[in-house]
Amino acid sequence: MLWSGWGDPAQARELPEPVRGLLRDLLGVRAPQTPAATLESVRLPPVALAEPLLQALTEVVGAEHVLTGHEDRVRRTRGKSTPDLLRMRAGDGSDAPDAVVLAGSHDEVAELLRLCSRERIAVVPFGGGTSVVGGLAAAGDGFAGVVALDLRRLDRLRSVDAGSRVAEFEPGVRAPDAERLLAAHGLTLGHFPQSFEYATLGGFAAARSSGQASAGYGRFDDMVVGLTLAAPAGTLELGRAPKSAAGPDLRQLVLGSEGAFGVITSLRLRVRRAPAERRYEGWRFASFAEGTAAMRALAQDGPLPAVLRLSDETETLIGLSRPDTIGSTGSTGSNEPAGSAGSAGSGGPGVSGGCLLIAGYEGERVGARHAAASTVLARMGGQPLGAEPGESWKHGRFSAPYLRDSLLAAGATVETLETAGFWSNLPRLYDAVRLALLGALGSPLVMCHVSHVYDTGASLYFTVVTPQDEDPVAQWARAKAAVNTAIVEAGGTITHHHGVGRDHRDAYATEIGPLGTAVLRAVKAELDPAGILNPGALIPRD
Ligand SMILES: Cc1cc2nc3c(=O)[nH]c(=O)nc-3n(C[C@H](O)[C@H](O)[C@H](O)COP(=O)(O)OP(=O)(O)OC[C@H]3O[C@@H](n4cnc5c(N)ncnc54)[C@H](O)[C@@H]3O)c2cc1C
Repeated sequence: MLWSGWGDPAQARELPEPVRGLLRDLLGVRAPQTPAATLESVRLPPVALAEPLLQALTEVVGAEHVLTGHEDRVRRTRGKSTPDLLRMRAGDGSDAPDAVVLAGSHDEVAELLRLCSRERIAVVPFGGGTSVVGGLAAAGDGFAGVVALDLRRLDRLRSVDAGSRVAEFEPGVRAPDAERLLAAHGLTLGHFPQSFEYATLGGFAAARSSGQASAGYGRFDDMVVGLTLAAPAGTLELGRAPKSAAGPDLRQLVLGSEGAFGVITSLRLRVRRAPAERRYEGWRFASFAEGTAAMRALAQDGPLPAVLRLSDETETLIGLSRPDTIGSTGSTGSNEPAGSAGSAGSGGPGVSGGCLLIAGYEGERVGARHAAASTVLARMGGQPLGAEPGESWKHGRFSAPYLRDSLLAAGATVETLETAGFWSNLPRLYDAVRLALLGALGSPLVMCHVSHVYDTGASLYFTVVTPQDEDPVAQWARAKAAVNTAIVEAGGTITHHHGVGRDHRDAYATEIGPLGTAVLRAVKAELDPAGILNPGALIPRD
C-alpha cells in the first residue's frame, strides 16, 4: 500500500489530458505549489514511550513484533480519507503512534490490554488502515504513549462448518484472502467494498461496513453470527445460535464499536455458496427520480439483484461509475443494443445522458431473476444498455481510489461521503447535502449515486471535486462540518457504512441524544475502565 495514497503503486493512474483540461477550465484547478513530501521527510514526534514500557510490550509479543522505525510509524498514521492523505503529502506525521505492536493470538491481545491499562498506554486497533473517518488517529494526551495494535498476524481461517455455512476467521484476514480461502470450499462471503483489496474482516465488523453487493449478500454486520472480543476488563464470547431471544443482542454492541470497547479477535461469519453464475448490465433512466423509483420497486417487491446502484445525472455525465472509461474515447461495446452509443464523458461508451443504473445478478437461477427484474425496470421507464456498462463497472469497481491520488497531485480535492434515509425522505436528503457542499465550496463538482438499497430506504454516496485552496485540510473540514449539520437537520443518519471515528463523532452525539451518549459511555467504562482503547474515536466528548 502506498504510504501517502491508495493501493499498489504499480496501478497508479495518470490523468488523461482531457480530464486535466476539464479540471483546469471548468473547475479552475491549479497544480499545488509545494511538492509532496517523501517518506523520509515526514515529520514524526519523538517516541514518547519510555524504554521500560517498550521492554514490557516486548515481553508480551517478542522483540521482533514491537516496531518503532520511521516507516513503521508512518504507515500506521491515520487512515485513508482525503484529509489523511493531504496531511501525509504535506509531511505531517504528528498523529503517529509511538510504537506498532503485532499481536499473534487472542491471549497476547488480552495480555497487552491488561499491561496498557496498568501503564496508561493508549491502544488503537489497526486492521487494514483504510478508515476514512479519522478512526485511527490517536488522541494520546494524558497517556504514557500510543501503540497501534496491528492485527495482521491474526490472519487464519480457523474452521469451516459447511453444514451450518459458518466460517470462523481471525480478524486480520484481508478481504481478498478471505475470498481465496473460502473459494477452496466452494464458498464466498460476498463482501466487496471499494476498499476490498486492503481492508480486513475485523475492520469490517468494527466499522459496520457495507459492500457493493449488499443487496444480494447483506451488510457485513448481517454476516456476523458470533465473535470474540478481548477487552481490558475481560473477554466476551457472543453468538451461540443463528438467532436468539436471550435479552438484547450484545453482538450489536461490538459491531460498530470501532476499537473503543475492545479488540475483536475472532469472527464467526455466515457464508454462501460461491455463485455459479454472474450477470451484470446497465440501464438508462431519464432522471434520478425515475431511476430511484425503479430501485424502490425492486427493493420492496423484488426480485432484488445482488448489485443495484444508480448514478445521478452528473455522475453519469462524468462517467465515475465506470472509472476505467474516464477520459477514453472508446467505441461502443459489442453487447450494446443499437442506438445506445455515446462517447466518453457521458457515462462512458454506451451511455448518453440521463442516469446510469447498474444491476448485477449472482448465484442460482440468474436467468429467471434477471428476466423478472428486467420487466420491472422496463416498466418503470428504464432503457436496457446491455452487458457492457455492467461489465465495465465490475472491471473498474476498485479503481476509483487510484484516480483520487492523481487528482490530489493535480491540485484537486476529491472526497466522498455518505448517508442513508427512508425512501420518502431521500430527495430531501439529496438536496440538503448538495446545497451544503455548494454553499461551503463555491462551485464544486458534486456527484451522487444510490449505493445500497433496502425495502424501507437507501444510502446516498456523494463524490466531491473542488480546487484545493491554500489550506485544503481546513477547506474540507468546513465543507464536512456543513454537510454533517445538513444531514442531521434533513433527518438522515450521519453514516451508512463509513463509521463514526472522530469525523462524525459530534454529529453522532446529536443523532443518539444525551441518553444514548450516556449509555455508550457506561459500556465503555465497564469494558475499558482506564479508557485506553482508541481514545477520541466514536464516544462523544463530555
Ligand atoms: C478507497 C476506500 C474505499 C472504501 N470503500 C468502502 C466501501 O465500499 N464500504 C465500506 O463499508 N467502507 C469503505 N471504506 C471504508 C473502510 O474500508 C471500512 O471502514 C473498513 O471496514 C475498514 O477496515 P480496515 O480493516 O481497514 O480497518 P481500519 O481502518 O484499520 O480500522 C477501522 C476502525 O476499526 C477499528 N478496528 C480495526 N480492526 C479491529 C479489530 N479487530 N477489533 C476492534 N477494532 C478494530 C480501528 O481501531 C478503527 O477504529 C473505504 C475506504 C477507502 C479508503
